[in-house]
Amino acid sequence: LVSGKHRKTYARISKKAIRHNLQNEQARIGDECKLFAVVKADGYGHGAVEIAKIARDSGVSGFCVALLDEALELRKAGITEPILILGIVDVEFVPIIAAEDLSVTVSSLEWLKEAEQRLVQQTKALRIHLALDTGMGRIGFRTVSELTEAENYVTNSELIEFEGIFTHFATADEADETQFNRQLKQFNKLISCLSNKPQFVHAANSATALWHQQIPTNLIRYGIAMYGLNPSGTTLKAPISLEPAMELISELVHVKEIQPGDTVSYGATYEASDCEWVGTIPIGYADGWRRSLQGQTVLVDGQRCEIIGRVCMDQCMIRLPKEYPVGTTVVLVGKSGNDQVTMEELAEYLGTINYEIICGIALRVPRIYV
Ligand code: PLP
Repeated sequence: LVSGKHRKTYARISKKAIRHNLQNEQARIGDECKLFAVVKADGYGHGAVEIAKIARDSGVSGFCVALLDEALELRKAGITEPILILGIVDVEFVPIIAAEDLSVTVSSLEWLKEAEQRLVQQTKALRIHLALDTGMGRIGFRTVSELTEAENYVTNSELIEFEGIFTHFATADEADETQFNRQLKQFNKLISCLSNKPQFVHAANSATALWHQQIPTNLIRYGIAMYGLNPSGTTLKAPISLEPAMELISELVHVKEIQPGDTVSYGATYEASDCEWVGTIPIGYADGWRRSLQGQTVLVDGQRCEIIGRVCMDQCMIRLPKEYPVGTTVVLVGKSGNDQVTMEELAEYLGTINYEIICGIALRVPRIYV
């Protein structure tokens, strides 16, 4: 993968913002409850290893990832804290998980049985967290009898360590709490059937941590809010200040005046109605700057400038209020003057969620940590 180091388009990531978001939440929840920083999908596009290091220095107790490969990347980078893999890993890789001191999510008894067979040669026990499907409908044990069987199995195994149990809420970011309460009730019911509680009982992602603090758990899987974004978009107000960590910056690489009737970009969908100044910026849909952002505005010198014509693979064009020199900074996401373009604004424009925008910023856009 080639990163565009010689092009002045980059994602600027504020370490201070990450620290602020983590420390604020840790202060709010108290020392009894641990924070695991969720750094899957390359730290939601912010860079997993760098974010993990900042989070570690901010005092988090561990990390969550989705894939075994993401966990291995962190270990390779010298991260020695606990790492929980939230996805289901093919059971053939169990020896690597144990050898690397990782923790893995388990969703079926069959997986446990197969895992045990593959652990016979292993000197280290395999740490597992049992997933409970309380209404998310994705992975996990659903009934008391399934859970009891799994608990008995891991309790009787010398090769498997029952480290945690957790669930995941489907609607923690919504104002209507009906589904949340239904899931919470089921979670409490399943947990109360355990003969012994493991070290970690967890249920909270960012939204649950922010808006449902009362649940009886001792670990939070903190993702989107660590990056300073509101899990609900703009629906619910966060009880603490969230500082967005990522800004997206580029510059004008070409500036020209066009005449009435001149057209811009593929399909000639934009036609100038007047004499207009047009700037070209070196970012396009191959950078995760989506094609459907035509019509969205970016900031030049604190002023809103519309993206005119179709966004190309590597470039797009904006209408400038006047002539600006080549090299002028363009803020695609972030602050300029008194104005700010937020990830939420982009998400709303594109009919998606802030998560998808940040995860979609391609690796060819360098991440710069300030
Ligand atoms: N826990 C689980 C099981 C997840 O799948 C995710 C992310 O999707 C998280 C926690 C983190 O969620 P958030 O980024 O909303 O905090």
